[in-house]
Amino acid sequence: MINGHKLWPTNSGGVADLFGVVCTTKAGSTDLDDFAFIFVPAKTRGCTQSGPYQKAGMAADKNGDIWFENVRVPVWYRAHGPGEDFKYFKEMVSWGNMLSVAFCTGAMLNAYELLSDFCTRTSFRGKPLKENDDIAGVLADVARDIEVTRIVGYQAARMLDRPDLYGDSWSDEIVTKCRAYKYFACDKAIEVLENAMNIMGPHGSDRVEDIEKHWRDVKIIQLWLGGKQLGQMEVARWYYDCKTL
Ligand SMILES: Cc1cc2nc3c(=O)[nH]c(=O)nc-3n(C[C@H](O)[C@H](O)[C@H](O)COP(=O)(O)OP(=O)(O)OC[C@H]3O[C@@H](n4cnc5c(N)ncnc54)[C@H](O)[C@@H]3O)c2cc1C
Repeated sequence: MINGHKLWPTNSGGVADLFGVVCTTKAGSTDLDDFAFIFVPAKTRGCTQSGPYQKAGMAADKNGDIWFENVRVPVWYRAHGPGEDFKYFKEMVSWGNMLSVAFCTGAMLNAYELLSDFCTRTSFRGKPLKENDDIAGVLADVARDIEVTRIVGYQAARMLDRPDLYGDSWSDEIVTKCRAYKYFACDKAIEVLENAMNIMGPHGSDRVEDIEKHWRDVKIIQLWLGGKQLGQMEVARWYYDCKTL
């Protein structure tokens, strides 16, 4: 029987027909065999959900509350079974983080195009903005950050594609590295978009220009999958063997 209240899952807010529910088969247990991933059709008796929240960005991804009250599903709705559920959940975390790097890179690439166009067609003292030393320096940093973030994304994809070289995608090492790459990409994407807005001034905040949309979207990417601080804690735990975090 599933009981509880989940907030924020992606594609909830009334749009999902099927939930992937992370829960435990034994309340209070720390045994990973009791970690369960169970599929629950949204119309199952005892399952209710709110409408979508009005969050800052990523508007096409709906989030809301889901309440489970004495919800029962057939036992074979559990994804894999004891031990395996946790393993494959961790694999999802690796993939989610890798894909988040791709989201951030896409937003940054569009920012680059918009910024490049703006700095070419806008003049200051008779010269295109991009011919101004200060502006050119910021534009260079934007291009550099996109290049580096793309490499990070390709590395994440390669690690997940070649477990024979890097180890299983559910291993603590790969999960941690993907978390590190994701919060690095989010930091860079937010920085790039803020720089674009600083240069474009009010035009950057104009809904017509799309910069502000990417800025809101990448902030949401930073908050999902546990957010930046969980990413930092997981990285500290794995790299420094922290005992109390
Ligand atoms: C757009 C979006 C989509 C999402 N999609 C999903 C989804 O599909 N599935 C899903 O399960 N969840 C989803 N979430 C939920 C998200 O993963 C959680 O919001 C996130 O893990 C943070 O958990 P919390 O909200 O309970 O915050 P908390 O864990 O309560 O954190 C609140 C604050 O306390 C800090 N904190 C927490 N623990 C510690 C600690 N040990 N030490 C120091 N500080 C700590 C945090 O850093 C943070 O600042 C989504 C969230 C968003 C924003």
